Amino acid sequence: MRLDAKALRYMSSDDFRVLTAIEVGSRNHDIVPTPIIAQLSHIRGGGVNRHISDLVKRKLIASETNSKYIGYKLIYAGYDYLALRTLSKRGTVTSVGNQIGVGKESDIFVVAGEDEEQVVLKVHRLGRQSFRNVKNKRDYFRQDQSPSWMYMSRLSAMKEFAFMKVLHEHGFPVPRPVDQNRHVVVMGLVDAFPLRQITEVGEPGKLYSTLMDLIVRLAKHGLIHGDFNEFNILLQENGEPVLIDFPQMVSTSHPNAEYYFNRDVDCIRTFFKRRFGYESVLYPKFRLDEEKEFSLDVQVAASGFTKKDQAQLEKYQEEVGANQNEAEASDYYNNDEEVSDEEFVYSGDEASDAEPSAKGKEAVDGGDMAGDDESDSE
Ligand code: ADP
Ligand code: MG
Repeated sequence: MRLDAKALRYMSSDDFRVLTAIEVGSRNHDIVPTPIIAQLSHIRGGGVNRHISDLVKRKLIASETNSKYIGYKLIYAGYDYLALRTLSKRGTVTSVGNQIGVGKESDIFVVAGEDEEQVVLKVHRLGRQSFRNVKNKRDYFRQDQSPSWMYMSRLSAMKEFAFMKVLHEHGFPVPRPVDQNRHVVVMGLVDAFPLRQITEVGEPGKLYSTLMDLIVRLAKHGLIHGDFNEFNILLQENGEPVLIDFPQMVSTSHPNAEYYFNRDVDCIRTFFKRRFGYESVLYPKFRLDEEKEFSLDVQVAASGFTKKDQAQLEKYQEEVGANQNEAEASDYYNNDEEVSDEEFVYSGDEASDAEPSAKGKEAVDGGDMAGDDESDSE
């Protein structure tokens, strides 16, 4: 999926109103009928039809017919447009640049931010990888009115930003959080390569303990990364790692916390053995709460990304198997050990038709995901 900078420049304010009307309308309509679009955009008469067909031509919306009427829905490019417009109004994104990565369920761009500084734009695209699975589970997703890819992608971006913020504030080596809107996160550009692309390090033992210490330090703050592996650890020139990619983070109070913790630890052990021939008898073991010093999970919940949001996203991730970590998702990444930067290069338009209309956002009650409820436990 491309980010169309031109569309940003050439859209009239009425086109924008129509696009926004469709976004708002889709909260209550699977596909939004023209009279509703006219009503929400306050554009009467034939005018609205002209804007609609314009937006269809630009592939920002698509028309669809159900048993009763023809209507319209946002597709990813339209949602991208709305997010970019908001971010550029806020001044956090000033131009759209090059795509540098395509992840499991995201596109990564380097763009200009405030003061021409380069920042990273991560566009969450839930439903892309797992669209087929989601389709099979239509019944589950039909229980709510919002289009699942839009809602879930937004939740995922909200979660990533909330965690990045709280980790950054507590001095963890993560990118600087800049801004977030809809399904897009803006963050500092880290000048580093993923560990995946590194063939040699000076002292593997030292890096190994730095990474294990990081896993333990996260746990002491009540958190487990959940996808702690060579794809999500960027190694800077000075040898210090930076951790990225937070949509799957879980609390140490999660019922499967021990499993996720051990999986993170095992990822690093396996990688160090295979890549650097390094093995150690020392590795951290999960100990619940015993030595917890902070509850950042609770802070995140207090920051606006609620336990309910967390539960919804998690349920989706479980449904579509998206909580499988990247190292395990061997069908997506080239799984041979050869170091190649190919997987980080944008390779075509494969996502352009991935616009699941399945439903998401089933109400799942918060449960005990984030453990205790004292938000001031720091
Ligand atoms: P996904 O959730 O799709 O795996 P990631 O957040 O892991 O997405 O990002 C995918 C890739 O994009 C990373 O492996 C890294 O190469 C690059 N990347 C992501 N964020 C940054 C950043 N802040 N600075 C530099 N490179 C980044
Ligand atoms: Mg990743």
